[in-house]
Amino acid sequence: METTLAPEFANTSRGLAAQEILRRCVHCGFCTATCPTYQILGDERDGPRGRIYMIKQMVEGAQVTRETQIHLDRCLTCRNCETTCPSGVAYGQLVDIGRTMIEERISRPWGERLLRQALKVGLTSPVFAPAMRLGQALRGVLPATLRAKVPQFRPPGPIPTRQHARSVILLKGCVQPAMLPGIDAATRRVLDTLGVSSVQIPGSGCCGAIKTHLADPAGGAQDARRNIDAWWPEIDAGRCEAIVVNASGCAVMVKEYGHLLADDPHYAEKARRISSLAKDPIEFLESLLPELQAVVQQHRSEVPADRVAFHPPCTLQHGLKIRGAVEALLSALGAKLVPVADSHLCCGSAGTYSVLQPALSCELKLRKLDALGEHRPDIILSANVGCITHLQSGTQTPVRHWLEWVDMQLQST
Ligand code: SF4
Ligand code: SF4
Repeated sequence: METTLAPEFANTSRGLAAQEILRRCVHCGFCTATCPTYQILGDERDGPRGRIYMIKQMVEGAQVTRETQIHLDRCLTCRNCETTCPSGVAYGQLVDIGRTMIEERISRPWGERLLRQALKVGLTSPVFAPAMRLGQALRGVLPATLRAKVPQFRPPGPIPTRQHARSVILLKGCVQPAMLPGIDAATRRVLDTLGVSSVQIPGSGCCGAIKTHLADPAGGAQDARRNIDAWWPEIDAGRCEAIVVNASGCAVMVKEYGHLLADDPHYAEKARRISSLAKDPIEFLESLLPELQAVVQQHRSEVPADRVAFHPPCTLQHGLKIRGAVEALLSALGAKLVPVADSHLCCGSAGTYSVLQPALSCELKLRKLDALGEHRPDIILSANVGCITHLQSGTQTPVRHWLEWVDMQLQST
């Protein structure tokens, strides 16, 4: 779509980036049919083509309204539309630009402002972990809506201490270690079994995705710089061969540091290097599959293999464009994967979306759990902490990270 930038956006990096993305869109609407919010609401403005058109109008100088903000808020940023789009429109980047522009022009009701600020500050704060532990201790008496956000405490198990010649950095993150510490512990045990040490560097933390997707790109960039500063001595000394990020939502973010900080003369080069080192665990473990198979074989028990339903998070399949690799690894390790309908669709977790858009989020969760449960799996596996806690709040079937399942295979006798 030809887009003529309004004077206020001409020659701004955001305006030019939006214009470049909009130029690729031919307004064909193929993306609309696969958009989860369009499927539920049936309004063109709640689908990608409508949202793209509203952003085009905005950068061309049309008056922005609260209505536009509401339609952009309803977007999950699942990027399913990017996978569908035959023209390669970078919708995820465009919607982040559009949201930031709207945020600067439209004031939200005070309740929304408060909630968004609480999420930005609260989820990434050091007090989140003790608050979560308290919530877990009181879980039985919490109201149902709050209980759904507080996963049951599960002891993480031992952290390996052996030093190996091979070493990786493991992202420390923010909500994951507080909510489900077993994911990091399982990741570290699996890596240790394969002769790889893992370190979590003090001073690092949230990848920046929470602030970035809440229309605070400056806050997200600051989180990225803090992580780079913390990681750099380890990288500069050549002590780490990769940065393993075991939440696919965070992996997308860390891989985008190079793009995010491209205009920052002090960090651009380092950010590019960090992005090139960032790996989802499946990217790191694929080459180690023969060793992993051999170890799992030694531990193989006589009990029948688990029937597994795998939910690929949107950030894994649409963000990182990794499709089928985790499923292939699980099968190779003996899982019996059951078919899951519409696996390209979002489960409704989408970062802070489940808090900000509870009705749409809940509808998507119910649909996803129906699809995942159709063939009665023993366990549901996924690759992102948000999807795991969101889905677990609606089912008795255990929902785990796929690395926790691999770790379980190593523990069985
Ligand atoms: S984003 Fe892609 S699929 Fe959607 S309308 Fe534009 S060109 Fe068509
Ligand atoms: S990111 Fe997801 S919810 Fe948003 S427009 Fe694209 S498909 Fe729809």
